[in-house]
Amino acid sequence: MPTPAAPAPSHGHSGAVDLRSDTVTRPTPAMYERMRQAPLGDDGLDGDPSAIALEEAVARHLGKEAGLFVPSCTMGNLLAVLVHAPRQAQVLLESTSHIYTAERGGATLSGTFYLGVAGVDGAMDMDLLADALSPGVHALKTGMVAMETSHNNAGGTVLPLVHMQAVHGMAAAQGIAVHLDGARLLNAAVAQAVPPATIACHADTVSLCLSKGLSAPVGAVLAGSRASIAKARQLRRMLGGAQRQTGIMAAAGLEAIETMVARLAEDHARARRLSDAVNRMAPALRASSPQTNIVQVEVGNTGHSADQWAQALRQADLWVRPWGPQRLRCVTHRHVQDADIDRAAQSFKAVLEQFQQAACPAYAGTGQRLP
Ligand SMILES: *Cc1c(COP(=O)(O)O)cnc(C)c1O
Repeated sequence: MPTPAAPAPSHGHSGAVDLRSDTVTRPTPAMYERMRQAPLGDDGLDGDPSAIALEEAVARHLGKEAGLFVPSCTMGNLLAVLVHAPRQAQVLLESTSHIYTAERGGATLSGTFYLGVAGVDGAMDMDLLADALSPGVHALKTGMVAMETSHNNAGGTVLPLVHMQAVHGMAAAQGIAVHLDGARLLNAAVAQAVPPATIACHADTVSLCLSKGLSAPVGAVLAGSRASIAKARQLRRMLGGAQRQTGIMAAAGLEAIETMVARLAEDHARARRLSDAVNRMAPALRASSPQTNIVQVEVGNTGHSADQWAQALRQADLWVRPWGPQRLRCVTHRHVQDADIDRAAQSFKAVLEQFQQAACPAYAGTGQRLP
């Protein structure tokens, strides 16, 4: 059977620059080849050799005893809750974390209560965390504390290792497990120039997404102690996450963690390049200073909403996502080159001029810019 040709990089339609998410990345030709050649078994029966190889490789990377291949990072995070937290326990996590803002419907399945703890740049306030952990008469017993790095909603910020250590220590002192939503853990490791295990050691279980910047088509791995992963494996079946020839997907994941990590630094550099270019349009536009591959752009000063901006940018061949009423999110990834960043900056400039001219036609053609 011939190897299927790798589809062209995702450049939206008609060559638009697609900064909606690093999830749009396509498998590499080497991934297709590895998928085709992967030794296969039955993961729901007696095991799939390629899935087992992936689980062991990720566990080793993260300094954990065992790993579990799961269809999505969302399922990995839910399994962590089911493993650690008994019913009627509370789960503590930073109040803009992905598990809280995007996955907390899972609480209806686990019978737990998610309590958001306010934080800065994705890091929970330690005093508020201590309060939430203190077993007052009205407080629920805490079953799990979760952290997230890099932090999606905080603009790809990386948790300081001392913070992670402090959270882990505070929870461990009460015998409470810590889970790390490390969907983009490897972006954090590259940004902090430390081995992934140096980050993962501050949590009992860790989930890692293979299908974002790492470019695998699907999947995530949950890693932790042998006992917790054995429990998660049983629970995965309950959730319908036990599949069959999973080695086809796991093979792409193996290729991803072996070959796609170092290049994440390029995505981070391009995010900075975009941020710098947009900040030359200040004060109308203001871009965050990215630590990893996510740039947030504030459009509130332009008199146009994030939705209006996203639509207008789309007309100008740049795809981004509104992230709140006055904020856009741009994510760099493998299919975005330096020239694409420069085109993206041009699109921002063109839309800004278009909005300014619409607001004040007298400025049209004068080359002057409104503040
Ligand atoms: C994307 C993401 C998830 C969910 O991952 P899926 O594989 O899409 O389910 C969880 N946490 C964070 C921080 C994410 O960015």
